[in-house]
Formats: sequence, C-alpha cells, structure tokens
Amino acid sequence: MVVFDEVAREGHEQILYGYDKVSGLKTIIAIHSTALGPALGGTRFFPYETEEEALQDVLRLSKGMSYKAAAAGLDLGGGKAVIIGDSRTDKSERLFRAYGRIVDSLRGRYITAEDVGTTTEDMDMIRRETRWAFGNSVALGGSGDPSPVTARGMYAATRALAKWLWGDTDLTGRRFAVQGVGKVGSAYVQLLVEARAEVVISDSYEPAIEAAVEVYGVKPVEQDEIHRVDCDIFSPCALGGGLNERTIPQLNCQAILGSANNQLATDEDAARIADRGILYAPDFVVNAGGLINVYDELSGYSKTRALHRVDKIYQATERILETAAEHGINPNQAAMRVAEERMQDIGDLRRFRRSGDDRN
Ligand code: NAD
Repeated sequence: MVVFDEVAREGHEQILYGYDKVSGLKTIIAIHSTALGPALGGTRFFPYETEEEALQDVLRLSKGMSYKAAAAGLDLGGGKAVIIGDSRTDKSERLFRAYGRIVDSLRGRYITAEDVGTTTEDMDMIRRETRWAFGNSVALGGSGDPSPVTARGMYAATRALAKWLWGDTDLTGRRFAVQGVGKVGSAYVQLLVEARAEVVISDSYEPAIEAAVEVYGVKPVEQDEIHRVDCDIFSPCALGGGLNERTIPQLNCQAILGSANNQLATDEDAARIADRGILYAPDFVVNAGGLINVYDELSGYSKTRALHRVDKIYQATERILETAAEHGINPNQAAMRVAEERMQDIGDLRRFRRSGDDRN
C-alpha cells in the first residue's frame, strides 16, 4: 500500500502511526483538516483485520469529522484515531497511557474523545497523560456519555423535518421505524414515545429489543423487515452503510433521519433516495449532538450551554433543507456545500489571523 497516495486523495494534513511494544498498542491518528480549529474526533478501538483496513477507516472517519464540525458551525477541524485490537480483551492502563502520550505529542492539533469501543473511563485514563482527551466522566468535570445528547439533537432535527414536510413540529401519531436501539437509538425512542409518536424497532441483539419493548412499549419487527415498515420516518441508528442499492428500493417512508455515521453506502445513494421521493436528513448534520457536547468541555463544561447549542440542530437542519430546495440539489449535497463553504470562508480568516499574530 502506498500511504501517501491514500492520504493525498482526500487532502489529509497529517497521519501519525504510534506503537508501544509492552502493551501491544498499535494506533493511527489522522488529521484531515485544522482549517477551522483543532482536529477533534473520537478514538475507535476495533479489531481491524489488516493495517490497510485501519488506515482506510481512519482516513474516512477523520474527513467525516471535518464536515460534521463545519456543518454544526463549530471552531473545530476534523480528526480521528483508531487503535487496532479487541476492545473486550486488549485494553489496559498501560496501553491507554502510552496512547495518551502519543496524542500529547501533537500538542492539541488533535483532540481525542470516545467512539466505538472506547468509554468515558478510557478517556479518563488517557487524560492522565494528556490534556487533549475529552468526553471525560462527570465526576472529573466532563460531559459523560454523549448518547442522550446525540438523541436530543436528532429530536430537534426531527421537529425541523416535520415542520418542513407537514407544516407542524408536532409528532403525535407520526410513525417511526428505528433500526438499532443501542445507546442513541433507545434514547431517541424515549423522546419519540414522550412526544406520542408510534414507534416500531429492530435490533440484532435480543436483550436490546426486550429492554425497548419493556421500557417504552414499542413494537419489534425482524431485523430485515425494518426497511419495509410503512412509516413516516425511517431512522437508522445501528451501523453505517445501511442505505444502499438493496435497501433503498424497499423503503416505505417519507423521510430518513438517524444517528448512524456514514449511512449512505456511496454518494450515489443520496440521489437514489431523492429519486424515490424520500427526504434524507444528512447523518452528519443530525447526529452532531455528541460532538457539540464534547466541544463544550474545551471551555469548561456547562450542560446548559451545551444543550442550548445542541438544540440549534433544528436551525441547522432547516438551513440544509432550504439550501437543497433553493439549488435543486439533494440534502446531502447541500450539507456538504454548507460545510465546505464554512471551511473555506472561515478557514481563510484563521490563516489571516495567524499571519497577523506572527507579525506581532
Ligand atoms: P450502540 O452500539 O450502543 O448501538 C447500536 C445498536 O445497533 C446495538 O444495540 C446493536 O445491537 C444494533 N445493531 C447492530 N447491527 C444491527 C442491525 N443490522 N440491525 C439492527 N440493529 C443492529 O451504538 P450507539 O452509541 O447507539 O451508536 C449508534 C450509531 O450512531 C453508530 O453508527 C454511531 O457511530 C452513531 N453515533 C453515535 C453517537 C453517540 O453519541 N453515541 C454520536 C454520533 C453518531
């Protein structure tokens, strides 16, 4: 594999490989962009089969973070890290502290937080070696588990979508099909049920289904039936890549809005969805609540301020839908355009300010 070719394709700024022999740590940190600020993005702990697979993932995810932060109007760039290993068996204090030292060597150009396979407790451990680890536990003054806040942001986006589609933010009696009732999916279901919506769910993990049925009284369907459910909004809250050539023709909904990162298997899938007359709320716009929450830790966490910012996802969603309608493009293209314009406009300003600083 030619690493520079891979890196050049999406214009990443920096890739750092880190290794610790004693703990077996193997990590790759990717900084996609610092145009808008430090590159913030979680650490994914995952048993990648090859180094190539790990590199591809970290490059893709770090670029996604640049767009997510820009679309949310944050002063953040995009970065991500992966640790190659099994999060159930390979974690140790030594490994996380060695990793913390590697993060520290970037002196704040990259800021880490939790992601798939890492927890607030892991962030607390990393924090012992670097001040550039957030998503810390509440006991340490951090923002804790981001999932309920991500669900809150999705709920704000859902109301904006409802207003756009039906002229009213009220969700009473609206029908939702939620795929995946893990940390975010279940918190979202709770908000929907409280709003008196009708909810059907699926999950690949039986205890998650049982918990949702028992706590929220929702109806479960088989895993491969969820796309076909006749509903107003289909909500992918499991893994990425779920909207593709095979599943899009099965959909029986008016709109799609969910938490899963990288829901579209390819960019063409946004057009496929639009061709079916279904409105797609871009994942990186509606699921930014967790990022916005962690971002708030940078200035000393205030829950009130963080939630206030998260609720602005309503306006962000509205803006994307308006931009799409105005330019005759699909909402995914509109969200990319809004993010790119911000990276360019404000990124330029930051460069100007930096050169000014140099003179003084
Ligand atoms: P999670 O692991 O707690 O939940 C995922 C759930 O999906 C699990 O219950 C799992 O059993 C289920 N699942 C997996 N494959 C499935 C399938 N094929 N069909 C039905 N269910 C399936 O993860 P989470 O933290 O709730 O995150 C969910 C998604 O949202 C992920 O894509 C994540 O990257 C994204 N996301 C999460 C946050 C956050 O704050 N946690 C923020 C932004 C984006």
